[in-house]
Amino acid sequence: MNIIMLGAPGAGKGTFSAYLEEKYQIPHISTGDIFRENIKNNTELGAKAKTYMDKGELVPDELVVSLVVDRLAKDDCAKGFILDGFPRTLPQADALTKALEDAESGIDYALNIDCPDEFIINRMAGRRVCPGCGASYHLVNVPPKKEGVCDVCGAELIQREDDNPETIANRLRVYHEQTQPLIDYYADQKVLENVDGTIGRDNVFAVLDKLLD
Ligand code: ADP
Ligand code: ZN
Repeated sequence: MNIIMLGAPGAGKGTFSAYLEEKYQIPHISTGDIFRENIKNNTELGAKAKTYMDKGELVPDELVVSLVVDRLAKDDCAKGFILDGFPRTLPQADALTKALEDAESGIDYALNIDCPDEFIINRMAGRRVCPGCGASYHLVNVPPKKEGVCDVCGAELIQREDDNPETIANRLRVYHEQTQPLIDYYADQKVLENVDGTIGRDNVFAVLDKLLD
Protein backbone atom coordinates (compact mmCIF):
# COMPACT_ATOMS: atom_id res chain seq x y z
CA MET A 1 0.00 0.00 0.00
CA ASN A 2 1.58 3.27 -1.16
CA ILE A 3 0.36 6.27 0.80
CA ILE A 4 1.01 10.00 0.64
CA MET A 5 0.11 12.29 3.52
CA LEU A 6 -1.03 15.76 2.46
CA GLY A 7 -1.98 18.63 4.71
CA ALA A 8 -0.65 21.82 6.22
CA PRO A 9 2.33 21.81 8.54
CA GLY A 10 1.13 20.79 11.98
CA ALA A 11 -1.98 19.01 10.68
CA GLY A 12 -0.78 15.81 12.32
CA LYS A 13 0.76 14.04 9.33
CA GLY A 14 3.58 12.71 11.50
CA THR A 15 1.25 11.29 14.15
CA PHE A 16 -1.02 9.61 11.62
CA SER A 17 1.93 8.29 9.61
CA ALA A 18 3.38 6.67 12.72
CA TYR A 19 0.02 5.02 13.39
CA LEU A 20 -0.17 3.62 9.86
CA GLU A 21 3.46 2.50 9.94
CA GLU A 22 2.79 0.44 13.05
CA LYS A 23 -0.49 -0.92 11.75
CA TYR A 24 0.58 -1.93 8.26
CA GLN A 25 4.28 -2.50 8.90
CA ILE A 26 5.39 -0.28 6.05
CA PRO A 27 8.03 2.42 6.46
CA HIS A 28 7.12 5.99 7.40
CA ILE A 29 9.35 8.27 5.37
CA SER A 30 9.38 11.87 6.57
CA THR A 31 11.52 14.26 4.55
CA GLY A 32 11.45 16.73 7.47
CA ASP A 33 12.85 14.00 9.77
CA ILE A 34 15.52 13.12 7.20
CA PHE A 35 16.62 16.76 7.04
CA ARG A 36 16.59 17.14 10.84
CA GLU A 37 18.66 13.96 11.13
CA ASN A 38 21.15 15.40 8.64
CA ILE A 39 21.31 18.67 10.58
CA LYS A 40 21.97 16.76 13.79
CA ASN A 41 24.77 14.81 12.09
CA ASN A 42 26.29 17.95 10.55
CA THR A 43 26.10 16.67 6.99
CA GLU A 44 26.44 18.87 3.93
CA LEU A 45 22.80 18.22 3.04
CA GLY A 46 21.81 19.20 6.57
CA ALA A 47 23.68 22.50 6.37
CA LYS A 48 22.04 23.34 3.04
CA ALA A 49 18.55 22.37 4.21
CA LYS A 50 18.81 24.28 7.49
CA THR A 51 19.09 27.68 5.82
CA TYR A 52 15.66 27.14 4.23
CA MET A 53 14.00 25.35 7.12
CA ASP A 54 14.87 28.04 9.66
CA LYS A 55 12.98 30.57 7.55
CA GLY A 56 10.00 28.29 7.00
CA GLU A 57 10.80 27.98 3.31
CA LEU A 58 10.96 24.85 1.22
CA VAL A 59 14.23 23.13 0.55
CA PRO A 60 14.84 23.27 -3.25
CA ASP A 61 13.30 20.42 -5.23
CA GLU A 62 16.65 19.16 -6.51
CA LEU A 63 17.82 18.49 -2.94
CA VAL A 64 14.68 16.54 -2.08
CA VAL A 65 13.62 14.52 -5.12
CA SER A 66 16.62 12.22 -5.60
CA LEU A 67 16.77 11.62 -1.86
CA VAL A 68 13.20 10.34 -1.83
CA VAL A 69 13.47 8.37 -5.07
CA ASP A 70 16.57 6.57 -3.72
CA ARG A 71 14.79 5.86 -0.43
CA LEU A 72 11.76 4.36 -2.19
CA ALA A 73 14.01 1.98 -4.13
CA LYS A 74 15.13 0.29 -0.89
CA ASP A 75 13.87 -3.22 -0.13
CA ASP A 76 11.74 -2.23 2.85
CA CYS A 77 9.48 -0.19 0.54
CA ALA A 78 8.58 -3.22 -1.58
CA LYS A 79 5.30 -3.75 0.30
CA GLY A 80 4.48 -0.08 0.45
CA PHE A 81 5.38 3.16 2.18
CA ILE A 82 3.94 6.24 3.84
CA LEU A 83 5.37 9.48 2.50
CA ASP A 84 5.05 12.30 5.02
CA GLY A 85 6.02 15.79 3.84
CA PHE A 86 6.71 14.77 0.27
CA PRO A 87 5.70 15.77 -2.33
CA ARG A 88 5.26 19.43 -1.42
CA THR A 89 5.40 21.04 -4.87
CA LEU A 90 4.01 20.15 -8.29
CA PRO A 91 7.49 19.38 -9.70
CA GLN A 92 8.07 17.00 -6.77
CA ALA A 93 4.72 15.33 -7.43
CA ASP A 94 5.53 14.93 -11.11
CA ALA A 95 8.93 13.47 -10.32
CA LEU A 96 7.31 11.01 -7.91
CA THR A 97 4.64 9.97 -10.41
CA LYS A 98 7.36 9.37 -12.99
CA ALA A 99 9.63 7.40 -10.64
CA LEU A 100 6.74 5.19 -9.55
CA GLU A 101 5.61 4.66 -13.14
CA ASP A 102 9.13 3.55 -14.02
CA ALA A 103 8.83 0.96 -11.27
CA GLU A 104 5.34 -0.02 -12.54
CA SER A 105 3.86 1.30 -9.35
CA GLY A 106 1.73 4.23 -8.20
CA ILE A 107 0.02 5.89 -5.28
CA ASP A 108 -2.95 4.10 -3.70
CA TYR A 109 -4.05 6.83 -1.30
CA ALA A 110 -3.30 10.52 -0.94
CA LEU A 111 -4.70 11.33 2.50
CA ASN A 112 -5.40 15.02 2.89
CA ILE A 113 -5.48 15.90 6.59
CA ASP A 114 -7.69 18.95 6.52
CA CYS A 115 -7.36 21.68 9.19
CA PRO A 116 -8.14 25.41 9.14
CA ASP A 117 -5.21 27.80 9.64
CA GLU A 118 -6.30 29.03 13.11
CA PHE A 119 -6.33 25.45 14.29
CA ILE A 120 -2.83 24.86 12.92
CA ILE A 121 -1.41 28.00 14.51
CA ASN A 122 -2.80 26.99 17.88
CA ARG A 123 -1.57 23.49 17.62
CA MET A 124 1.97 24.29 16.52
CA ALA A 125 2.52 26.74 19.34
CA GLY A 126 1.93 23.88 21.80
CA ARG A 127 3.84 21.21 19.92
CA ARG A 128 6.77 19.55 21.65
CA VAL A 129 8.94 16.86 20.09
CA CYS A 130 11.38 14.26 21.32
CA PRO A 131 14.90 14.78 19.97
CA GLY A 132 15.66 11.15 20.84
CA CYS A 133 13.00 9.13 19.04
CA GLY A 134 10.97 11.72 17.11
CA ALA A 135 7.73 11.23 19.06
CA SER A 136 5.43 14.24 18.97
CA TYR A 137 3.35 15.74 21.81
CA HIS A 138 1.12 18.73 22.51
CA LEU A 139 1.04 20.63 25.79
CA VAL A 140 -2.77 20.47 25.92
CA ASN A 141 -4.00 17.85 23.44
CA VAL A 142 -1.38 15.10 23.73
CA PRO A 143 0.63 15.76 26.88
CA PRO A 144 3.35 13.29 27.88
CA LYS A 145 2.71 11.28 31.05
CA LYS A 146 5.48 13.17 32.82
CA GLU A 147 5.79 16.87 31.99
CA GLY A 148 8.61 17.63 29.56
CA VAL A 149 9.71 14.00 29.20
CA CYS A 150 9.18 11.56 26.31
CA ASP A 151 6.89 8.62 27.15
CA VAL A 152 8.71 6.37 24.71
CA CYS A 153 12.40 6.94 25.43
CA GLY A 154 12.62 9.28 28.42
CA ALA A 155 14.46 12.09 26.62
CA GLU A 156 13.69 15.72 27.43
CA LEU A 157 11.15 17.23 25.02
CA ILE A 158 11.99 20.32 22.97
CA GLN A 159 10.19 22.84 20.80
CA ARG A 160 11.23 22.67 17.16
CA GLU A 161 13.14 25.72 16.01
CA ASP A 162 10.69 26.32 13.18
CA ASP A 163 7.66 26.19 15.52
CA ASN A 164 7.89 29.88 16.44
CA PRO A 165 5.03 32.24 15.43
CA GLU A 166 6.86 34.03 12.61
CA THR A 167 8.12 30.87 10.96
CA ILE A 168 4.76 29.17 11.43
CA ALA A 169 3.05 32.00 9.52
CA ASN A 170 5.56 31.67 6.71
CA ARG A 171 5.21 27.89 6.54
CA LEU A 172 1.45 28.27 6.21
CA ARG A 173 1.85 30.83 3.43
CA VAL A 174 4.26 28.50 1.61
CA TYR A 175 1.84 25.61 2.13
CA HIS A 176 -1.07 27.48 0.54
CA GLU A 177 1.04 28.64 -2.41
CA GLN A 178 3.03 25.54 -3.22
CA THR A 179 1.54 22.45 -1.59
CA GLN A 180 -2.21 22.96 -1.57
CA PRO A 181 -2.40 22.60 -5.38
CA LEU A 182 -1.40 18.96 -4.90
CA ILE A 183 -4.89 18.26 -3.54
CA ASP A 184 -6.30 18.76 -7.05
CA TYR A 185 -3.38 16.89 -8.57
CA TYR A 186 -4.20 13.74 -6.57
CA ALA A 187 -7.95 14.23 -6.95
CA ASP A 188 -7.31 14.06 -10.72
CA GLN A 189 -5.40 10.81 -10.15
CA LYS A 190 -8.49 9.51 -8.27
CA VAL A 191 -6.57 8.65 -5.12
CA LEU A 192 -7.47 11.62 -2.91
CA GLU A 193 -9.23 11.09 0.43
CA ASN A 194 -10.08 14.09 2.60
CA VAL A 195 -9.82 13.49 6.32
CA ASP A 196 -11.04 16.03 8.87
CA GLY A 197 -7.96 16.69 11.01
CA THR A 198 -9.81 18.61 13.72
CA ILE A 199 -11.77 15.74 15.29
CA GLY A 200 -9.07 14.50 17.64
CA ARG A 201 -6.34 11.95 17.20
CA ASP A 202 -8.26 8.78 18.07
CA ASN A 203 -11.19 9.77 15.89
CA VAL A 204 -8.84 10.31 12.96
CA PHE A 205 -7.32 6.88 13.63
CA ALA A 206 -10.82 5.41 13.37
CA VAL A 207 -11.51 7.24 10.11
CA LEU A 208 -8.22 5.94 8.71
CA ASP A 209 -9.10 2.39 9.79
CA LYS A 210 -12.35 2.63 7.88
CA LEU A 211 -10.76 4.12 4.78
CA LEU A 212 -7.85 1.71 4.46
CA ASP A 213 -9.07 -1.64 5.78
P1 ADP B 1 5.87 20.38 8.85
O1 ADP B 1 5.01 19.50 7.99
O2 ADP B 1 5.42 20.43 10.25
O3 ADP B 1 6.13 21.74 8.24
P2 ADP B 1 8.26 18.85 8.18
O4 ADP B 1 9.01 18.17 9.24
O5 ADP B 1 7.52 18.04 7.20
O6 ADP B 1 7.31 19.83 8.97
O7 ADP B 1 9.22 19.84 7.36
C1 ADP B 1 10.04 20.78 7.99
C2 ADP B 1 10.77 21.61 6.93
O8 ADP B 1 11.60 20.76 6.14
C3 ADP B 1 9.87 22.31 5.92
O9 ADP B 1 9.40 23.55 6.40
C4 ADP B 1 10.82 22.46 4.74
O10 ADP B 1 11.73 23.53 4.92
C5 ADP B 1 11.62 21.18 4.78
N1 ADP B 1 11.01 20.13 3.93
C6 ADP B 1 10.50 18.94 4.34
N2 ADP B 1 10.02 18.22 3.30
C7 ADP B 1 10.24 18.98 2.20
C8 ADP B 1 9.95 18.82 0.82
N3 ADP B 1 9.33 17.71 0.34
N4 ADP B 1 10.31 19.81 -0.03
C9 ADP B 1 10.91 20.92 0.42
N5 ADP B 1 11.20 21.15 1.70
C10 ADP B 1 10.88 20.20 2.60
ZN1 ZN C 1 11.53 9.82 22.67
